[in-house]
Amino acid sequence: MFKPNSTVKEAREVLSNFLQETGCYDICAQCPIYPGGEGCCHGCQKINRNEEGQMTGCGSPNLSCLSYTCGVLNEHLRRQGRLEELTEALYGMPREGYRGCQLRQEDEILQFTDPLAEAEILASISSDLRVSEESDNE
Ligand code: SF4
Ligand code: SF4
Repeated sequence: MFKPNSTVKEAREVLSNFLQETGCYDICAQCPIYPGGEGCCHGCQKINRNEEGQMTGCGSPNLSCLSYTCGVLNEHLRRQGRLEELTEALYGMPREGYRGCQLRQEDEILQFTDPLAEAEILASISSDLRVSEESDNE
């Protein structure tokens, strides 16, 4: 989905176009979980509003919110055969923005890493994880 050496800005455009094209934004606009039009953005301080108080958009364009897909969107994408495409694209992508970390510069080149490699390091140093794995194997 992303071309090599994508910038943060390019990745946002690709993800946003994907969500638009697959109808995810249409579902969010009538969210079955959080009714009221603001979906799961409801309560976020980054929401832009007009004079009537209606949400007009996001005041903090970022990758983290664009890469968030709830169970409803997951199932919607799965039925179109597009879920794997998104999952593979997001695998290892550094998040930035509201859902967890700071915004990056628009022109920063994204470095994709393997999150499971980090999990293996954690498993090697965490006795809790080893106990849990042993319990699972019983
Ligand atoms: S991502 Fe899911 S929970 Fe959030 S607004 Fe969209 S449909 Fe609703
Ligand atoms: S930062 Fe995320 S949760 Fe907040 S308004 Fe923007 S898209 Fe919604």
